[in-house]
Amino acid sequence: MKYNIAVVPGDGIGPEVVGEAIKVLNAIGQKYNHQFNYTTVLAGGAAIDEYGECLPEATVEACKNSDAVLLGAVGGPKWDHVPGPQRPERALLGLRKALGLYANLRPAMIFQELADASPLKPSILDGGLDILIVRELTGGIYFGEHVTESGEDGSVTAYDVEKYSDYEIQRIARTAFEMASKRNGRVTSVDKANVLDSSRLWRKIVSEMSSDYGDVELDNMYVDNAAMQLIRDPKHFDVIVTGNMFGDILSDEASQITGSIGMLPSASLADGNFGMYEPVHGSAPDIAGTDKANPIATILSAAMMLRYTFNLSEEADAVEGAVRRFLADGFRTADIAGTGDAISGTVETGDRIAGYI
Ligand code: ATP
Ligand code: MG
Repeated sequence: MKYNIAVVPGDGIGPEVVGEAIKVLNAIGQKYNHQFNYTTVLAGGAAIDEYGECLPEATVEACKNSDAVLLGAVGGPKWDHVPGPQRPERALLGLRKALGLYANLRPAMIFQELADASPLKPSILDGGLDILIVRELTGGIYFGEHVTESGEDGSVTAYDVEKYSDYEIQRIARTAFEMASKRNGRVTSVDKANVLDSSRLWRKIVSEMSSDYGDVELDNMYVDNAAMQLIRDPKHFDVIVTGNMFGDILSDEASQITGSIGMLPSASLADGNFGMYEPVHGSAPDIAGTDKANPIATILSAAMMLRYTFNLSEEADAVEGAVRRFLADGFRTADIAGTGDAISGTVETGDRIAGYI
């Protein structure tokens, strides 16, 4: 089969980690006889440098015309002076909106070999950890009105609007319930319903929808409590469903439970099978160009692409198996290395994982 992938390498370590993921996809293509075609386009700082805007229309078009998007990371201090609407990270918001990507899936999984890297006690993590955070991605406070007002006396006031419709909540809740019914049958919906109207609607709609999913158990949790329980009792969670900002924060927190942000993939899905796949981490400008970046998060994102957009679960399993074998054979990138471990650079890591395939 032929698959068309739009590739958005982005900034910082983005191009480095994307290069390794493509290497791994090509190994899959060779082994299983698939043809992956790549169209590389710019977004973020790289696009600002080249075209003067963070998300050129040509990039959006190329993504729309492909079967899936593989993205590295955008942004960095080089573009700190760029004004609001053209900031590199706005390219991500723009892409999500333009492509209708409303569901962000972030697994927080612990590979057995890396359990030591978690800051949590082994007794808390006993038997591993596998949480899936389903974050609403195109609504909420990130897309509400952003206003800064200057008063005549020189004072300044700013505010941002948190807004959700019943339809937006139903759509993301459905994704979460569907995923949970294929996993361990538990959804925790996270909100701040004791303070916010938008959260009260969220809780009402999610609770109503749960009656359609008799095999899935729902509990509702305030976000402050959820932040606490992720550390105290992470095994409580199977699927977490939450809004845009709470999801952003909780998934970064969950990423640290696993030990390294360099290991975590993500998927952003639209209706149908279309999706954009990217590592959870950012552009890490501090290590760009030093061959230190861990490409595994991006490689695992490519595995999610195989699984969720292309329906190639055997191929996705092969990628995850190759990562597991890399770890089991004792190889570590610098971010996940313990004292005395041999360090594998970005390129060597991609070569080895592709080699295992
Ligand atoms: P953003 O605002 O884009 O999320 P950030 O500065 O908050 O960016 P990251 O870019 O994710 O966060 O990086 C935080 C730190 O984690 C980096 O400085 C880097 O040292 C480390 N890091 C991030 N990704 C990786 C990776 N793939 N491999 C190794 N280290 C990484
Ligand atoms: Mg960050």
